Order: sequence, then C-alpha cells, then structure tokens
Amino acid sequence: MRLHFPQMIAAAMTTLVVLSGCQAPPPVGPGPDHAAICDEQLVIFHPPSPQWQPIAQETMTVLRAGRQTAHDDFGLENPAMGLVLVSGGSGSYGRGVMAHHPDQDRQVEVFVMPIPDAGQLAAEIRNGNTMLAAGTPSLQAARHIAIFLQVHEMLHVLLETQLTPDAFHLWLNEGLAEYFAWRTAEVHAPDALPGFLDDRLSELSKLPPDGTIDFLAWSAADSEMLRRLALPDGEVITFGWSNGRRVNEIRRAADVARAAAGQFDGDRAEQLRRDAQLWDEWVQTVETAGGPGHLRLSSDDDRTRWGVYAGLLALFLEMDAAGLDPRSLIDSLRNTAYARLETRRDMDAAGEFHEINGLMLTATNDRILALLPDVDGVPAADLVRRYPVARARQVLEAQRSRLMAQARP
Ligand SMILES: [Zn+2]
Repeated sequence: MRLHFPQMIAAAMTTLVVLSGCQAPPPVGPGPDHAAICDEQLVIFHPPSPQWQPIAQETMTVLRAGRQTAHDDFGLENPAMGLVLVSGGSGSYGRGVMAHHPDQDRQVEVFVMPIPDAGQLAAEIRNGNTMLAAGTPSLQAARHIAIFLQVHEMLHVLLETQLTPDAFHLWLNEGLAEYFAWRTAEVHAPDALPGFLDDRLSELSKLPPDGTIDFLAWSAADSEMLRRLALPDGEVITFGWSNGRRVNEIRRAADVARAAAGQFDGDRAEQLRRDAQLWDEWVQTVETAGGPGHLRLSSDDDRTRWGVYAGLLALFLEMDAAGLDPRSLIDSLRNTAYARLETRRDMDAAGEFHEINGLMLTATNDRILALLPDVDGVPAADLVRRYPVARARQVLEAQRSRLMAQARP
C-alpha cells in the first residue's frame, strides 16, 4: 500500500521551502527516542523498548533478503536506506525523508512502517500467531509481516528512486511489489509462503466469487482518489480510501464539478468539465461496465482492497509461469519512452489550482502492456483489464497445493 502523490506534493513543498530559506517542516522520521540497529547498508530505527528488538532484527534479516532479490532478479541497485518502525498499524505508510545514519555519519533514505502495537506484535510472535494468518510458528509470524509488508514497501522505494518516472499506475506498482515479496520469500523464507497464501485467499473470499477485477479501472480510480475538489460553498471534498464512500463521493464530485465549471472560464472551466466526464466514466465502470458479475470494486474499500492485491499476486504468478522476466521488464521501464509528462492539479479551498508536473509511467500505455507475456495465448493486457476472482483463487490454491506436496516427506 502506498500513498503516492501526497508525498510527492510534500516533497516538492519541502524543496521550495528550503530553496526560499525558510524552516522546513519536521520530517516524518525517527524521533529522538528511537534506537537503531544497522549494517553497512541498512539502518532500522525502532522505539527503544526491548520488545521492539526482535522485530527490528527480523526486519533487518528480511530487508537483506529483499535487497538480494532486488539485485539478482529485478536488476535494481541497493542504495543505503533506512526504515523507521513506528507504533500504530492504522497510520499512513510513507517514505521520502532523509535521516542520519547513527553509526556511519551519513544520510539514508527512510521509509516509515507503522506496525501494530509492539507489545501486541511481540505477543503474537511469541504465541505463534501472526497478524496475517493464525497458527504458524513464531519465526513465520514475523516473516509474514516483514516480508509481505516491509519488503513489499521497499520495492516501491527502489522503483521510484531508480526509474525515471515519478509515479506509476497503481496496479503495476502494487502488482510488482506483491510479486517481488513473493519471489523474496520463495528463495529466502519459503516457510512464510503457506501462511501468506492463506491470508490472501481469505481476503479474496471477501470479493464476489463470480466477480471480475478491472485493474486498470481500479488504478485510475486510485489516482482520482488523491485529488481534492473545493466546492463553491467552501466545503472541500477529499477522496480517500476509507469507509467505502468512493463511488458516492465521486458521483457527487462530478455533479459539483459540472456545476462549478459555469463559474469559471477558459481552461479552468474546460478542465472541470473533463474531470466531471472522467469521474462519470469511472463511476459507470465500477458500477455497470463488464456485464453481470463485474466487481464493484469500491462498494467497500476496506473490505475489497487486499482481495484486489490477492488478484494482482495471482496475475503476476501466472505471468511468471508464462516467462515474465522482471529484470528485463524493469530494464524496459527505465526507458523514458514509457513515461509521459503529466500535469496533475490540486485545487485548494480557495478554488486555486496548484499544478504539479511529473513523469507518469502510465500503465494504460499499450506499449507497457505489450511488454508482458501472453498467458495461455491470452495477452496479459486482456487479463489486466478483466481478471476473474475465481481464476485468482484457482492460481493461489494451486500454489498452496504445490507447497503442501513439497512439504510431504
Ligand atoms: Zn504497495
């Protein structure tokens, strides 16, 4: 899970503030109370209490494993980086701040990983439970959490710092991150795989079994979620992931944008009309497109989000079996031909637009979809647009059966 644009905006604002000589806002990073463990390349900041130390050690172990995968399989470099463990699982994930490496007198890039209360997590590990699946031995519990949250997040950092584009469409970014975590676990922590599959299958079961996921529509919707629209009466609609209000909010925003367009002229009015049209299309896509059984992705975000991730993992595992080579895909994506300069706009409460220019690696670009392998004669592009929930379940259950067969003496 990532929040992309708010951090880009925050980073851009920080840059501007620094350039103009003002005091930068305090970064989201390790606080003065954080302790740290480190090696030559990694630093893990954690709250100082003893119960955090095994969590920090396990984090160090799996991040090293992830970096090995990043180098060997994905062809990525592994710059010095840090991770801040913070209490509170419902907090937002983030990155993009620099922090001082306590032992090496240098700055490292830091991404922030909220974890549920350390005492609770330590107890889960001791009791052989996990946040993701119950009834597994203690080391597996820690590995579940570390690999499938922390290693996953690390890939976002590596991609966004080493590829030219500033932003990816969500399905590609998240699909690659899930796939990356899977490949890391396959080599370095295979004992973590069954519990992880159980978790993803249980998330998948929250989606309509005859549903079909349109990953492109889901991605487009996510981008729109990060916009804000100021209403003439001063209210600001902020789209968000929580509470499953997306469809209604976007429908309302489209109505409001159309009405507000009349108050402006020129480009601004035109842009508002285009926004309204885009949002109308999105609402139509999630509600009606695709015929019977088409998944209403946004009927309840908290309920569906991880099921969609399970679908992405299944899709990438299918492409993997069909010959997907992540290194060559990443190499292709380094080519700026696959990115395009996009201007994103945010409207503040006063009705003023702020433009943010960035290179978007647009996954709707047919040339990117063409980089992916066919699966049993079906172009991956078709699967990305229409992936049955039942098919995802079949793929993940087959993986689980394979692992169970391997585990038998
Ligand atoms: Zn993610």
